[in-house]
Amino acid sequence: MRLSRFFLPVLKETPSEAQIVSHRLMLRTGMIRQEAAGIYAWLPLGHRVLRRIQQIVREEMDRAGAVEILMPTLQSSDLWRESGRYDAYGPEMLRITDRHERELLYGPTNEEMVTDIFRAYVKSYKALPLNLYHTQWKFRDEVRPRFGVMRGREFLMKDAYSFDIDKAGARRAYNRMYVAYLRAFDRMGLVAIPMRADTGPIGGDLSHEFHVLAETGESQVYLDKNLLTMPIPPVDIDFDGDLEPIVQARSAMYAATSDVHDQARFEAEVPEERRMSTRGIEVGQIFYFGTKYSAPMKAVVAGPDGKDVPVEMGSYGIGVSRLLGAIIEASHDDAGIIWPEPVAPFDIALINLKTGDAKTDAACSGLYEKLENAGKEVLYDDRDERPGAKFATAELIGIPWQVVVGPRGLEKGVIEIKNRATGVKEELSAEEAVNRFV
Ligand code: ATP
Ligand code: MG
Ligand code: MG
Ligand code: MG
Repeated sequence: MRLSRFFLPVLKETPSEAQIVSHRLMLRTGMIRQEAAGIYAWLPLGHRVLRRIQQIVREEMDRAGAVEILMPTLQSSDLWRESGRYDAYGPEMLRITDRHERELLYGPTNEEMVTDIFRAYVKSYKALPLNLYHTQWKFRDEVRPRFGVMRGREFLMKDAYSFDIDKAGARRAYNRMYVAYLRAFDRMGLVAIPMRADTGPIGGDLSHEFHVLAETGESQVYLDKNLLTMPIPPVDIDFDGDLEPIVQARSAMYAATSDVHDQARFEAEVPEERRMSTRGIEVGQIFYFGTKYSAPMKAVVAGPDGKDVPVEMGSYGIGVSRLLGAIIEASHDDAGIIWPEPVAPFDIALINLKTGDAKTDAACSGLYEKLENAGKEVLYDDRDERPGAKFATAELIGIPWQVVVGPRGLEKGVIEIKNRATGVKEELSAEEAVNRFV
């Protein structure tokens, strides 16, 4: 992408309405634009990151055996009356009436709808286990939407739903999602800690929230520091194998949100130097809730003995749009965002120090073509601007690598590459530079 043809509305001033650094940086770099309280348009830079995060989540869900679908944002209130949640959900739910006076709602979550889909087609235990997921916009009329995409009213969530014939199967489904979550967050460059958590309006008796530690987090969390350095299950982990030891190894160490925190237990189980009490951003939550929806909604399957039983279910959410904020909170400096490579909007910022100089333009065009052909996403700063402004833009928007090309270097036969995270610079020939990235 040539910057001269891109749409990157960087603001000169830091927006004063934003209270936390991720919100400020997302507005400043033109990633998002607020359209109404808690409702955002995604501009090209933000949209690119959103897509990359969604793709990582998708790959890890697929690897864990979940199957992707896409359910609508609007739902019929009838389904929610069946489960009993229509009245229980309260003012966070956006209720809509159509021209025929039919009651609809903008889905805050999809347990009812997916249970309805399941019961329409699945009649036998032989089709189980099954896990259906989608990534779709949700609406929750939050009392205080704030911190930009961290607490929006309209936000993008990945939500998965598992169906099993018995508790043991549901536990295995839960463990698969637990491991998939560890892998997905790790791939985004995040340390996300699973914590024992309250089940809230989803209900049920087993749940973990995944938290990214950050001072600006809205939750108070308590944990054993050893959890910060636990190894992440590798890419070839066998999702059909026994994952219980992985879950147990973490669950054996104290980690809880304030809702379920037990100070006496914390002090008894964790030596003082390993106790950590800090703030966390909830980036995901997983629930096992058994037959809470399948029983009232009559989602039953015939078991091996031919008798109908309600399916055992769980649900598993990831805050895809919130993750952009969480990643920036965890990874920035005074100059701007530092994107972890797997989620960065571009891989490389190609900086032309003297646009209009024939030799420099030619060298940049050559590099641009080679890197793009090798599958790299390059943002080529071909604008007629001072070098200082180009460096500042590249730093601000956080592209992991800068490739800097100017007439003086070219005379010596070198260009410079710089790593955004470490600041380390190197001089290389153009060919060496290309080889570094391909
Ligand atoms: P919170 O405690 O922050 O209100 P929640 O517990 O109500 O979140 P869940 O029902 O567990 O949310 O939804 C799954 C995930 O969706 C959350 O872990 C979070 O990452 C994300 N999420 C929830 N509400 C919002 C929101 N208003 N804006 C952005 N992301 C959200
Ligand atoms: Mg909430
Ligand atoms: Mg919560
Ligand atoms: Mg939650």
